[in-house]
Amino acid sequence: MVQKTETLHEKDDQYVWHAMRPHSPNASIVAEKAEGSWVTDVDGKRYLDAMAGLWCVNIGYGRTELAEAAYEQLKQMAYFPLSNSHVPAIKLAEKLNEMLGGEYVIFFSNSGSEANETAFKIARQYHQQRGEHNRYKIVARYRGYHGNSMGALAATGQAQRKYRYEPLAPGFIHVSPPDSYRDDTNVSDPLELSSIKELDRTMTWELSETIAAMIMEPIITGGGVIVPPDGYMKAAKKVCEKHGALMIVDEVICGFGRTGKPFGFMNYGVKPDIITMAKGITSAYLPLSATAVRKEIYDAFKGSEEYDYFRHVNTFGGNPAACALALKNIELMEKEKLFERSNELGEQLRNNLTDLLHDHPYVGNVRGKGLLVGIELVKDRVTKEPLAVDLVNKVIAGCKEKGVIIGKNGATVAGYNNILTLAPPLSIEQKDLNFLVKTLSEALDKIK
Ligand code: PMP
Repeated sequence: MVQKTETLHEKDDQYVWHAMRPHSPNASIVAEKAEGSWVTDVDGKRYLDAMAGLWCVNIGYGRTELAEAAYEQLKQMAYFPLSNSHVPAIKLAEKLNEMLGGEYVIFFSNSGSEANETAFKIARQYHQQRGEHNRYKIVARYRGYHGNSMGALAATGQAQRKYRYEPLAPGFIHVSPPDSYRDDTNVSDPLELSSIKELDRTMTWELSETIAAMIMEPIITGGGVIVPPDGYMKAAKKVCEKHGALMIVDEVICGFGRTGKPFGFMNYGVKPDIITMAKGITSAYLPLSATAVRKEIYDAFKGSEEYDYFRHVNTFGGNPAACALALKNIELMEKEKLFERSNELGEQLRNNLTDLLHDHPYVGNVRGKGLLVGIELVKDRVTKEPLAVDLVNKVIAGCKEKGVIIGKNGATVAGYNNILTLAPPLSIEQKDLNFLVKTLSEALDKIK
């Protein structure tokens, strides 16, 4: 066993370039199998995965029904491009449309980044189809994350992610997101929020007739779980309408029950023009993403001349096995009421954490929706200065040692990653949630 592990770690260090971390020997959990909310590494050590992978294994690990759905489809027909069509894509598009409340047409890709790139291109061409040739700018928000490709990264509002890769795609502008912990703590009218006024002012000064769309996550996730005040999204939609801009909602993390509803925007009473989704659509069992577009926008492309239709293709997008698996994933999550479960367990989790941590000197704020939680750590609860990252890392390491994987996000102040994040599978068992709370609070106690 020891030899196996040593060899694998050496090979891991030698051959695999890891995402989002410095080169450091022996730092990986080399996972071998997983069941429910638990991952087992090659040494046999078990971890409660309180991040569901990368906020994506919504249904939980080890669901053989999903593997079987993909297997059956692979045997029947492995591939066919969506310049024509196939049955799993049609069925999934119909199902997504039903979940979204009707009137959407679906374009399939493989990743969240691609779904967003597709949305940007559709938004730009939509305006052109209607004779508005200057509308190309995309307004996004600081702290939001929208992907790793040059356009999606340009939309991303986290400087550290872009530093060293510039110049990125031009035409992206950023505004501040609402931050109920730090700003506007006494504002009740959403139109009076400083973030909404800034959005309106930016669209005005950039000239409305140059703005194609705004993109936003319903709740900023990777930027530190920023839950907007209730009326924020409606107010933002109003501002977009005033300036003739489309609203693109990035549901890559918030979708498929993460926030306690099928989609995150459903918490806020808006109907987006374009909705992008990935991760939870297959619970990450296979790569798949989708860009859902309001029928009226799709219709604007109808009757286009040759070379004037939507000139965008994605070879693997809407892969038949991935679509068949997604359908089974959604069917099971609905049958097992996992979206409602996310809502109930999430509230309970935040209440337990708040009760337990309310007098911890470094816990500034516990927030979230559904099974999406952010715990903002601060050096001082009055000044709200972010906690130094080495202390944040100690909490993460303390949890890992006890067999719990949690996340770290943020950049409240550029360079800080002071927000602990939790996003367990929506099927997580009650006793595992209790274990998570206990382990996390012990790890936090150690840095008091
Ligand atoms: N949007 C959001 C909100 C995301 O969190 C991510 C991935 N973390 C993406 C887009 C990009 O998705 P992908 O990594 O599948 O390209």
